[in-house]
Formats: sequence, C-alpha cells, structure tokens
Amino acid sequence: MKQNKIERIHSDSARTCKLCMEEMETLYEHLAMSTDEIDLLDMPKRSFTVHFPVRMDSGKVKMFIGHRVQYNDARGPTKGGIRYHPELTIEYLQDLAFLMSIKCALVNIPFGGAKGGIVVNTRELSRGELERVTRAYIREIADYIGPFKDIPAPDVYTDEQIMVWILDEFEKIRREHTPSIVTGKPVELGGSHVRKYSTSLGGVFILEEALRKLDIDRSELCVAIQGFGKVGSNVARILYEKGFTVCAVSDSKGGIYKPEGLDIKKVIDHKTGTGSVIDLPESQNITNEQLLALDCGILIPAALSNQIKRENVNDVKAKIILELANAPLTMEASRTLIDRSVLIIPDILANAGGVVVSYFEWIQNLSQDYWEEDKVLERLREKMITAFEKVHDICLEQNCSMRRAALQFAIQRILYAERLRGNL
Ligand code: NAD
Repeated sequence: MKQNKIERIHSDSARTCKLCMEEMETLYEHLAMSTDEIDLLDMPKRSFTVHFPVRMDSGKVKMFIGHRVQYNDARGPTKGGIRYHPELTIEYLQDLAFLMSIKCALVNIPFGGAKGGIVVNTRELSRGELERVTRAYIREIADYIGPFKDIPAPDVYTDEQIMVWILDEFEKIRREHTPSIVTGKPVELGGSHVRKYSTSLGGVFILEEALRKLDIDRSELCVAIQGFGKVGSNVARILYEKGFTVCAVSDSKGGIYKPEGLDIKKVIDHKTGTGSVIDLPESQNITNEQLLALDCGILIPAALSNQIKRENVNDVKAKIILELANAPLTMEASRTLIDRSVLIIPDILANAGGVVVSYFEWIQNLSQDYWEEDKVLERLREKMITAFEKVHDICLEQNCSMRRAALQFAIQRILYAERLRGNL
C-alpha cells in the first residue's frame, strides 16, 4: 500500500510541490498519510488562466496571459504574491502557492496559500502599459479575489505602485473602499509599518534565537550574504546595526569581501550611486561562487533559487545557512550539508516574516486601527519565535532537519483544519 502511494507521488498527474518533492515523499511515509490526505495536499483547490487584450502605446492591441492559483483555504482565505515574469508557468505558481500554504500554517496565521501573475517582461512595457495590463488582469480575476477569498501581495517584479493599481481597480469594480483586498500598499493607503523589511527582520529574529539555543557566540562568526536587493540589503543593514560582522555581500554583478567587516551603510550608498556593490573602496572584489565558498560562520542566500547544488556544495564552509531566498539549495545539496552537521534554517520558516506582516496589514485594514511600529515589531517577533520553538522541539524529539520538522508541523495543521471541516 505504501509503495503505491509513493508511486502515485511520482506519477505525472501528481501535483505535490516539485521544490520540496523528496522531503514530502518521506514525510508522507513517516506520517503514514492516507491516500485521501495525500490527494488533498497534492492538488490546488483552484488554478486558472485568463487571457485579456490591452491597448499598447503604439495603438495596437496585444493579448496577455495571467494565472492565479489558490492552493488550500482550509485555514482561511488564500494569500500570495503576484509575479510578473516572461517565463511564468502555472505549474511553478502551483509549487509556490503550496509553499505559501505551508508558510501560513507554520507561523499560524489564518490564511491559505496562493500565487499568481502575468506572463510579461516588465522591462518591455511603458509605465502606462504596465498600469493598463495590471488593471485588465484584475478585472479578469476580480470575481475570485477579495478580503475573505484571496488576497494578493507584491512578488518578483511587482511593487507598491502595482498594489495601488490593484486596490484602485478592485474598488472601482466594488464601488466601495476595500483596503484589505491587497497587501504591500504604501503606509499612506493602508500599508503597515515594517512591511518593507519584514522578511529580513523575521529571518534575523530566527537566526538570533537559533544562536541562543545552540549557545553560539555571534562575535565568533562572520556573515556572507548573496543578493543585495530588498531582502539582502535589509538583512545586511539589520545585522550590521545589531553588531554582527558582515564580511561579504554580492549582487548579480559580483561580490565584495572584507574579513574584518564591511560598513553596510557605505555599501548601500555605493550601490545606490553605482548600481552595484562591486568596486567598493577598501574591499576586495570576489565572484558569487567565491562568496558561497567563504569560510564564514553564517551564509545567507537572498537572491535566486538553486544557488547551492551538487556542483558547488562541497565548497560550502559555512556552519549555519539562513535561507532567505526561496529554495536557494537543491534538496540534494541540503542533505549533503545536513550530513556535515551544517544547520540549515529553511526558507518556509526563515522568510515567513513577510507574510506575517502582510497579515498584520490585513488586520489593520479590516479593523481600521493602525499600529505603531513598535507593536508590529513586537508581534512579528512573537510569531517568528513561536514558530521557531515548535520546529526546534520537533527536531529534538525526532532528530530530524528543520525543513522536515517545519513541513511536518504545517501539514498537520492544514490536515487538522480539513478534518474539522469534514473534508477528510
Ligand atoms: P530583489 O529582486 O529585490 O533582489 C534580488 C537580488 O539578487 C538583487 O540584488 C540581484 O542583483 C541579486 N542577484 C541576482 N542574480 C544573482 C546572482 N546570480 N548572484 C548574486 N546575486 C544575484 O528580490 P528580493 O525581493 O530581495 O528577493 C530575493 C529572494 O527572496 C527571492 O528568492 C524571493 O523569492 C525571496 N523572498 C522575498 C520576499 C520579499 O519580501 N521580498 C519574501 C519571501 C521570499
């Protein structure tokens, strides 16, 4: 019987997240899950594609493709980003929506997971075209989203301005103010304090707690960060302000290294002025491959997926990896490092701070009671530490990796909600 389940997971029709497939397979077995439970987790609740015409600046009309996946809503309305990318596929969005369901359950916020977007290269659009494409997409999906149905947010190549167009278009359709339809808005239109750096700060809270639990003195560790965008630059700044030694950072053009520690304020100014972190005076230029192989205590991938893989995993010397990017390690690399006793704090926990503060934004919009920064910080810390404690306890009880513990805990929460509803 068990063999059959695993065969089903491998079959083409099964949908279980490809990004964490191997971990899910062993979990299904470990938890002795029934076929009904696996089926329920395997398939998104709703997954759809829309096609819509938009008038371009040239006067011609062009057709666009948009998708939205609402994976599981047993614990609440679905929640997830809107991504604009020329290679966007519904299959990849299904994986990301599954991971959002897991993240929301793990940090115990009353949302299911979603993800969506438009197949488009934003660099090829004028600002007016970008606005018209966004508004047209929202008109197509308006019946399926809402504050108690599905709540979009920013993602890759979408920002605050796009969230404002989404808000405005939805409100025009509804003919009433509905700030809770979307998160990631500017504070002036109902956004939350802290949201802009919430993913990075949530990761730092978890890192500090892990060091405390493991009784590791942070002054003995230096930090290398891959990626200096929204997440990478903020985590560098926060760690620097807390007194960590950040010895290396990088972006798509390359990296910089200074063993005694970079002045992150100078790095931010340099990047703002030149467009890259490289060539900062009094630091050494390095490649991204060299950064990943540095003899640093803490490595923080905050750029792209699949950066540490079979080809370079044996070069990695870090003792702790904080996954702020989504799926920066292949599962194979992850297993190799765990075998070498490297502590990997998995993406579904490490970068969940963003969706936690999105939840706070939604609460504030619904209650019309807007919180001071201190309250957001305190509640974010509480949510992140509580999730860390649960995961840590499971790791100790079962002698398993943090990724395995986090997935297991979240899946059990989702299945429990499904059982209470009578769906299992
Ligand atoms: P971003 O586009 O602002 O920044 C990405 C950074 O990565 C840029 O500095 C870019 O130059 C750099 N980069 C690109 N290719 C690189 C390479 N080969 N080597 C080194 N650096 C490279 O994106 P972001 O919002 O900071 O997101 C970073 C990662 O974090 C993504 O995986 C994203 O899915 C994940 N994430 C982001 C959030 C969020 O709140 N923004 C939340 C959860 C997860």
